[in-house]
Amino acid sequence: MFLVMLGAPGAGKGTQAKYLQADLGIPQVSTGDMLRAARKEGTELGERVQAVMDAGQLVSDEIILDLIRHRVAQPDASNGAIFDGFPRTLAQAEALGALDGVEISGVLLIDVPDDFIVDRLSGRRTCRQCGTMSHVSYAPTSVEGVCDVCGGETYQRADDNEESIRKRMVEYREKTEPLVKYYSEKGVLRKIDGVGEVADVTSRLRAALEQRS
Ligand SMILES: [Zn+2]
Repeated sequence: MFLVMLGAPGAGKGTQAKYLQADLGIPQVSTGDMLRAARKEGTELGERVQAVMDAGQLVSDEIILDLIRHRVAQPDASNGAIFDGFPRTLAQAEALGALDGVEISGVLLIDVPDDFIVDRLSGRRTCRQCGTMSHVSYAPTSVEGVCDVCGGETYQRADDNEESIRKRMVEYREKTEPLVKYYSEKGVLRKIDGVGEVADVTSRLRAALEQRS
């Protein structure tokens, strides 16, 4: 079972994907995690990633698809995976759909209003070492500024302020609309209300998945 999580930055895709991965027994596959893993492994692919990032360039779709191909071949993904943060564009969705053995059976769109996103993202903090996210009001770390998972320092992304968040929302909608249409025409799209407690949203996602099968 291959699933895709869709939703604006800050809609809670990553958090929800973590709950679903435990529930469904298939791993969450995020672009960030794959990039970090590849660099650590020091494989040929990892070195390519490192070179691109060192040069301050964006990692190409081609590299990301290579990472996904490598990732879904791992034993823990033999029953499927949950893609989080990919695809972001129609071209990426088409390329993902063309990968051998990866058939997308469900796309979960977490829907939240823009004001909600601004509130969520402006309080968001990320760990410098392991990438774990926290939130100053909704999911605070035990000690302010210190990651609960690894003890690393947490920081606020420079672009997590209202003006750039609203700009990102506009870009997100422009890029995602075609994706929503694409998956909706394939009959695999499920739209879920993302406002409320994390656990309530998780229940809605579970219900949407049951409806699917
Ligand atoms: Zn950490």
